[in-house]
Amino acid sequence: MIHRTGPAWQTPEWQTALAQAFTEPEALFEYLGLDRSRLPSTLAASRRFRMKIPRSYAALMTRGDPGDPLLRQVLPSAEELLEVAGFCTDPVGDLATQEAPGLLHKYHGRALLITTGACAVNCRYCFRRHYPYAGASAHRDGWRGALAYIAAHPEISEVILSGGDPLTLSDQRLGELCHGLGRIPHLRRLRIHTRLPLLLPGRITKDLLTSIMATGLQTVMVLHVNHPREVTGELAGQMRLLGDAGITLLNQSVLLRGVNDRAATLAELSEALFSAGILPYYLHLLDRVEGAAHFEVERSGAHAIHEALKARLPGYLVPRLVYEQAGAPSKIHMP
Ligand SMILES: *Cc1c(COP(=O)(O)O)cnc(C)c1O
Ligand code: SF4
Repeated sequence: MIHRTGPAWQTPEWQTALAQAFTEPEALFEYLGLDRSRLPSTLAASRRFRMKIPRSYAALMTRGDPGDPLLRQVLPSAEELLEVAGFCTDPVGDLATQEAPGLLHKYHGRALLITTGACAVNCRYCFRRHYPYAGASAHRDGWRGALAYIAAHPEISEVILSGGDPLTLSDQRLGELCHGLGRIPHLRRLRIHTRLPLLLPGRITKDLLTSIMATGLQTVMVLHVNHPREVTGELAGQMRLLGDAGITLLNQSVLLRGVNDRAATLAELSEALFSAGILPYYLHLLDRVEGAAHFEVERSGAHAIHEALKARLPGYLVPRLVYEQAGAPSKIHMP
């Protein structure tokens, strides 16, 4: 069903759901029936990087299981407080590539917009968990700086909306951005990197689709799904709306220890994604960001998992295994 955007004075359903996300560890422990012995470390870690978990996402977790792969992605833990050599606050050198407020121009032909710092969920392994969003989000100046930079650089053919999560912005804000992008003659493609369709039912609204279509740009949505249990009927329904609108649907995952570090899990993920009309695109090695060391799968292990995946799936369901290296002209593809 396509969710109507109500009158301007009415808060859209997805924004209400966003406001009701779990942010207090006690409430989450209660809801999931978790052993309270882990509560003090969860509280300590959430003081460094706030806990945020939408209720619809928590509803997919297994009650009473502290090792649930969905919970593990989002539950603050004691391991985050450890200092581990080689893990730093800006692992991919983002700050050095900022050309206008919130605009990163790292790769040929593509500009990436940090549209907002907000997300619907705070993933504990996020490589931007330390990003100084306050001074570096493209919406702050009404998109002017970012749009002017893109307009002045005819070699940019694709704009990537990232963040944070661009779909946490209101349809009105995104509409303004789409309007501006649609007027830049050398742009060919619009890409949206988001995790929202699997977190907030109803986020793909009619107004959002209308704004995207009005750009006249070919559009790609890259989702961020890590585990087969995240591919729900609700997600598939939202994907159908996008697919019907001619939007290409891809997925990127991060290879995470204790979440999806088995070939069987990743194979199931690829199958589930394809059933929902989404093609696997990238499988990222973890960026070495401070506080996320416990999620790392070492390179030889990652390579072996990827080989096993190749041996059991058709080629088009095998995501490319990549990692990011500051200063490189593209993501680095592992053989
Ligand atoms: C990852 C990334 C892109 C997109 O790279 P693709 O290989 O085209 O998916 C673009 N800009 C920045 C800054 C990135 O980090
Ligand atoms: S930017 Fe992406 S990975 Fe990072 S917290 Fe937000 S949704 Fe999660």
